Amino acid sequence: MSARTPLIAGNWKMNGSRKMTTSLIGGIKAGSVPSGVEMLVCPPFPYVALAVEACAGGSVKVGAQTCHANASGAHTGDIAAEMIADLGATYVIVGHSERRADHGEGDAEVRAQAEAAYRAGLTAIVCVGETEAERDAGKTIDVVSGQLAGSVPEGATAANTVIAYEPVWAIGTGRTPTEDDVQEVHAAMRADLESRFGADVAGGMRLLYGGSMKPSNAEGLLALADVDGGLIGGASLKAEDFLAIAQAAG
Ligand code: PEP
Repeated sequence: MSARTPLIAGNWKMNGSRKMTTSLIGGIKAGSVPSGVEMLVCPPFPYVALAVEACAGGSVKVGAQTCHANASGAHTGDIAAEMIADLGATYVIVGHSERRADHGEGDAEVRAQAEAAYRAGLTAIVCVGETEAERDAGKTIDVVSGQLAGSVPEGATAANTVIAYEPVWAIGTGRTPTEDDVQEVHAAMRADLESRFGADVAGGMRLLYGGSMKPSNAEGLLALADVDGGLIGGASLKAEDFLAIAQAAG
C-alpha cells in the first residue's frame, strides 16, 4: 500500500460560469468524498475566487490552470502565482499540453512557472506527455524524460510538486494507453526523479495519469503501482463522474 495520498484533480479548462462553479462544487460536496483521497478543482481564472468560497468548510481544494513566472509587472493578461495564492487557491497546473501547443510554452518556461508556484507557496502540477507521432516512433520514454528534466525545477519536493503524465493523443479523445504502458511510463518517471532528487523525494511525489480518464477506466489505472491519482478534464465537469473516479482511488 502506497503512503502517497491519491490526488484526483479536475481541469475544467475553458469551461464554466458562476452558476456552474457553485453547482458543480455543491454537487461534489454533497456526494461522498472518500476519506484518504485529496480532491482538487481547477476552474478558469475568473471563477477561482468563487470556487474557493464554494469549497470553504469542505475538503475539496482549488487550483488554477497556469501562471506567469514573474510576481508582477508589465505582462498584460497574465496572472501571477502570488495572485492565485492570494485568492486562497493552493495548486496550479503548469505545462499542460494545451498551453504548450496554444501558447508555445516550452520546458524552460514551464520550469519558471513551477518555480513561481513554489515562490508563492503553491503546489505545482507539472504536465508532461508525448504526441501520437512520438509514441508511434517509440520515443515516449525519451520525450517524457526530457520534459521532466527540463520542466521540473531543482527545488522540487514531494510537497510542492505533483507530476501529471498526459499523453497528448489521449486528451479528450476517449483513447488511453494500456495499463501496462501507463505503468511503464510512470515507473520510468519515478526512476528519473529518484536519480535526480533521491529516493525519499521520488518515493513521496505523486504521479498522476491524465487523458480520457472516466469512471469506467479509472479503477484499473488508479490501481497501478506508480499511479497516484488522476488529472481529469471532461469527466471532471460532472460531479457524479468526478466523484466516481475519486471513489475508485479510495
Ligand atoms: C486534461 O485536459 O488534462 C485531460 C486529461 O482531459 P480529458 O480527461 O478530457 O482527456
